[in-house]
Amino acid sequence: MKILICDAFDAGLPAKLEKFGEVFDDMGRLAEAEVALIRSKTTANQEFIDKAPNLKLIIRGGVGIDNIDVEYAKSKGITVHNTPAASSPAVAELAMALMLGLINHVPAADNSVKAGKWEKKSFKRTELLGKTLGLLGVGRIGSEVAKRAAAFGMDVIAYDPYLTTHEIATLVTDLDEFLGKVDFMSIHTPLTDETKAMVNKNMFAKMKDGVRIVNTGRGKVVNEEDIVEALKSGKLAGYANDVWYKDDADHTATLREAPNTVLAPHIGASSKENLLRIGEIIIDIISDFK
Ligand code: NAD
Repeated sequence: MKILICDAFDAGLPAKLEKFGEVFDDMGRLAEAEVALIRSKTTANQEFIDKAPNLKLIIRGGVGIDNIDVEYAKSKGITVHNTPAASSPAVAELAMALMLGLINHVPAADNSVKAGKWEKKSFKRTELLGKTLGLLGVGRIGSEVAKRAAAFGMDVIAYDPYLTTHEIATLVTDLDEFLGKVDFMSIHTPLTDETKAMVNKNMFAKMKDGVRIVNTGRGKVVNEEDIVEALKSGKLAGYANDVWYKDDADHTATLREAPNTVLAPHIGASSKENLLRIGEIIIDIISDFK
């Protein structure tokens, strides 16, 4: 079996995969690959698939498979797998870190101290205790955030039209009612036709002034232009973001210029522990693959 590693995985993974055959990371050998391992960097679209006539299996290390043309892959007889169970703790911890970073001005305070300043009075902090966190989508990752937010003393509510019960979060079935209640909203939906750009100025109009939003879901679930406008007007008191329209520095320009942001380069799944978990699941998938 020829296994092509397209994106960044645990450094020990290639050696563990050698029992299945040849493992390589040269994208120039895509045509030879029978298995392709990708994360979010590689897009397995028609062009990619057409260049890989021997491909039988694509494994997306991670959750979202919106970077794979699943229908086209199926039409070519290629099986697509992801590793959805692995990443939840890593992404949930980042969502909490971003929320805490935002209200405690961690990046700005750090920059200020390192610039030799003592701006103690400039950094006006806010607490999570007693605030309402609204989870937009409360599946695996949203549920991990719910646990952690509850431990911080937040009231946790969720809008998720595909669920009827939840162990921790109080489900609010009416979206407008949900929006009117939240002090913080954390986005945990997949990118679908329904969720694309659903977080936009129409939504903000129904939210409290000074609401803060954390996005570790998908960049295209928000309208970035509307986010920037709302940050500038003060409607949004903060926006913390890990996910982008496209994963490269050129596509961070819009948000980079806005006030009150904390920004990360899509590192939600990138903990050392998660990469190990993803690697173990990949080994199981390849072992089971006939
Ligand atoms: P999941 O499928 O367990 O949960 C998604 C939830 O969203 C489900 O409960 C679903 O019912 C809900 N949902 C779907 N459409 C909705 C809508 N219109 N409104 C409200 N809720 C809706 O998935 P998960 O494992 O929790 O992952 C969620 C998303 O997180 C992934 O699809 C991916 O886009 C993103 N993600 C990001 C990173 C990162 O690095 N930042 C890593 C992993 C996953």
